[in-house]
Amino acid sequence: AATEQDADRRAYAVWVSEIMLQQTQVATVIDYYNRWMQVTAPHRVLLAAPLTQPPLCQVVSELAGRVPRTAETLQKLLPGVGRYTAGAIASISYGQATGVVDGNVIRVLCRLRCIGADSSSPAVIDRLWDMANALVDRSRPGDFNQALMELGATVCVPKAPLCGECPVKQHCRARRRLLGQPAPVPEVEDCGVGCPLCPPAEEPWDSSLGVTNFPRKAAKKQPRAERTATCVLERRGCRGALEYLIVQRPSSGLLAGLWEFPSLPLAQDLQEEKQRELLADHLQAWTGRPVATGGLRLIGEVIHIFSHIHQTYVVYSLPLDGDVTLDPALSPSRWVTVEEFHASAVSTAMKKVL
Ligand code: SF4
Repeated sequence: AATEQDADRRAYAVWVSEIMLQQTQVATVIDYYNRWMQVTAPHRVLLAAPLTQPPLCQVVSELAGRVPRTAETLQKLLPGVGRYTAGAIASISYGQATGVVDGNVIRVLCRLRCIGADSSSPAVIDRLWDMANALVDRSRPGDFNQALMELGATVCVPKAPLCGECPVKQHCRARRRLLGQPAPVPEVEDCGVGCPLCPPAEEPWDSSLGVTNFPRKAAKKQPRAERTATCVLERRGCRGALEYLIVQRPSSGLLAGLWEFPSLPLAQDLQEEKQRELLADHLQAWTGRPVATGGLRLIGEVIHIFSHIHQTYVVYSLPLDGDVTLDPALSPSRWVTVEEFHASAVSTAMKKVL
């Protein structure tokens, strides 16, 4: 920033580094970054390369190569540029006195101020942004933001922070608390007004954890158990290869828009006979003809763990003779060979089912 006079080029350099650093760490990315920046002039490359970063292309096509100049306009005009990236570009490239909050900053600020509520909750995140905006150095905001993130990455690290070497240890309430020193103002958890930044009453300060009491995340919920009947309908295709019917899931919700074998959520503890009946009715819609429950062959069960669902697929198969006319009024559906199945947008769970 100190040596590059062109503000758009500065913004471009910071932006590219932020995009690359979302994928990996500085040590891994720096060589790629330097080579990329050597061979690309921002405006030329944006015009020539089929970049997968639409906001970068938008700068060229709609903003005449001029990157917006404030965190607010960066976020507003460039879809995909979030609050953090906007703050980083604006503070580092343009010297706007605006804060940034990333995972490292969350950790440092929660420890500095003993914020013990769930650090991913909107109330805490909003408060951290307020704090970052209030703290940022007015004359060197870019350096300040990078220093704060670096402090989190190198000193105030998640497991064993180096408090003795920390340049802000005098200001750190978590450290004061660890050392049994009173804070100059009441701790939020002692103030007795039930503020949204306090640790939950059922999870008080654990002295064995020291400063790593902060930040805190909400306890993970147990995944809920679900059962789904799924049926692999198969036929002999016109070229002799086996083909399978796949249908597309709705465009929102779990696994939105992915393809799967026709499936049906089941109530827990449903008897097998009832399962077959329900599945046969469901399949009739896809095949356009009655399906005999006896024709359904139970293959077995496949368990797949999503982050919040423990899913059991009860897998059936049903060979079909002759052609099946797919009803265009239903969700999109198609017959695929094994190769086509694997090349389709199918979930890992469905690959296991196959
Ligand atoms: Fe983090 Fe320790 Fe520094 Fe506090 S004193 S900010 S806990 S490293």
